[in-house]
Amino acid sequence: MAKLPPQGSAQSLVRRTPWPQSTSRPVVTPLQPSVVYASPDPDALDAQYRDGTGYTYAREGHPNASVLATKIDALEGATGGIITGSGMSAVGAVFLGCLKAGDHVLGGDQLYGRTLRLMTQDLPRFGIETSLADPTDSAAMRAAIRPNTRLIVVEVISNPTLRIADMEGIIALARDTGALLAVDNTFTTPRLYRPFDHGADIVIHSVTKLLAGHSDALLGYVAARDGDLARAIRDAAVTFGLSPSPFDCWLAERGLHSFDIRLDRAERNAAALADALAGCAGVTRVIYPGRQDHPDHNRAAGLLGGRGGNMVSFEISGGRRAANAFTRAASQIAFAPTLGDVGTTLSHPASSSHRIMTPQARAALGMSEGFFRVSVGIEEPEILIPEMVRAAEASQRA
Ligand SMILES: *Cc1c(COP(=O)(O)O)cnc(C)c1O
Repeated sequence: MAKLPPQGSAQSLVRRTPWPQSTSRPVVTPLQPSVVYASPDPDALDAQYRDGTGYTYAREGHPNASVLATKIDALEGATGGIITGSGMSAVGAVFLGCLKAGDHVLGGDQLYGRTLRLMTQDLPRFGIETSLADPTDSAAMRAAIRPNTRLIVVEVISNPTLRIADMEGIIALARDTGALLAVDNTFTTPRLYRPFDHGADIVIHSVTKLLAGHSDALLGYVAARDGDLARAIRDAAVTFGLSPSPFDCWLAERGLHSFDIRLDRAERNAAALADALAGCAGVTRVIYPGRQDHPDHNRAAGLLGGRGGNMVSFEISGGRRAANAFTRAASQIAFAPTLGDVGTTLSHPASSSHRIMTPQARAALGMSEGFFRVSVGIEEPEILIPEMVRAAEASQRA
């Protein structure tokens, strides 16, 4: 330890206390909140910038983000992925890093709400053309391709109607046209689908959801297969300051270690819940990719390796009145528009994610006032399923 003045003021201690040496190492990843890093001399700093080694300033990278990115890389079969401050900043980094004025972006027509907004309202302000098409129909996607299509953005499972994109057709389309294919893998997660294994160019995650899993860290992840593309996306993220907080990365890494166990458990609950709801009076429709009656069941079985995921949507009769009664009766289940938490959450698109659409436009997508989306959690099924069934019954008495 460096010698400190015996009776110095507190200010004499500023930045002068070295970290204790230890022959043993901490078992837990240390949390490193430092924004700034001191280098030994200008030659060393020069070399750091030149070779991209070592940390300089946390907006450009920090150890907790590196550790988390490396672990998600391993799950996705990626290299050089980066962590961003939210899922939307990962989407933003892709657009900012890959596009220029005059380019065209083609998106699935049921992307995450903010991604849709970014495409339809914001990109056009920067001279970027956008259009949307049905990703379950790759012929419709092909018809929407333009000579200047630079990027195709899709999600494998659509929100909230849980339709399955024709990934084989879309991957072939990207290959034929030379457009980049970005897959937002938040709903599917690498446990159900690994976009790089199938030929995607870019993988995006809202780490906030299933990967971190506890609704206490807001983060995103993005990786690109091509090194130049990865650098362009990383540069955009650093320049626009889309950087993550070390503490959020630290929390997310802790959550990630139980991700596959949580997902497997939640998926078993989801399959059981879907079947239980299908047997309830007043439940007019249950949508779960693992069920035979799902419109894309065969595609889901092939694409997702026989898995169905943790999301279930359903519809009850009785309109908004019955919907209000359902959420009040299911009082232990958080009525909150998110997903991927350890606890089951319930969302009602007509009053939240899809509230700006007209009832007619929602109806065209198959969403009435009685439509709910459930992100199933890891609770005991003996508690969760009767609770949901009771809420369905209560909704019909309202
Ligand atoms: C939540 C979500 C996002 C946005 O992620 P944030 O972490 O909330 O910014 C993007 N895509 C999908 C599919 C999501 O579910």
